[in-house]
Amino acid sequence: MARLTIIKQDNPLIRKHSKPVEDFSPRIHTILDDMHETLLHANGIGLAAIQVGILYRMAIVMTQEHGTLEIINPVIKTAKRQRTDAEGCLSCPGISGRVRRPHFITLEYQDRHGKKHTKDFHGIDAVCCCHEIDHMDGILFIDKIEK
Ligand SMILES: [Zn+2]
Repeated sequence: MARLTIIKQDNPLIRKHSKPVEDFSPRIHTILDDMHETLLHANGIGLAAIQVGILYRMAIVMTQEHGTLEIINPVIKTAKRQRTDAEGCLSCPGISGRVRRPHFITLEYQDRHGKKHTKDFHGIDAVCCCHEIDHMDGILFIDKIEK
């Protein structure tokens, strides 16, 4: 495994849209393994592939309810009960702010083998998933900070 460089908010790449993963190949598995190592070293709870400069719709989320998950091609099927809470981002060091997000989501996603899963996420876990999915569309939490 290798540790990857996390790109920051001033890198124009962070604003790109990521594309779906169609080929669940060993190359994808290697990227995910490297992302795990990168996330652990960075002390974060979530990392999207775009943050290491790879434009695929995949992320790692460290959840309280389901442990550490790889979410690939995620789609939010249900979002309920908005809440506002403090957030930060490994690509925006030194910045934090309060962002409005759903408190409950149902997420459909694929694992590294292409198998489909549907899971419910609450509280900080839901926030983390929504934050990472925003990255896949070039959106940063700083765009959403409540004034
Ligand atoms: Zn982030």
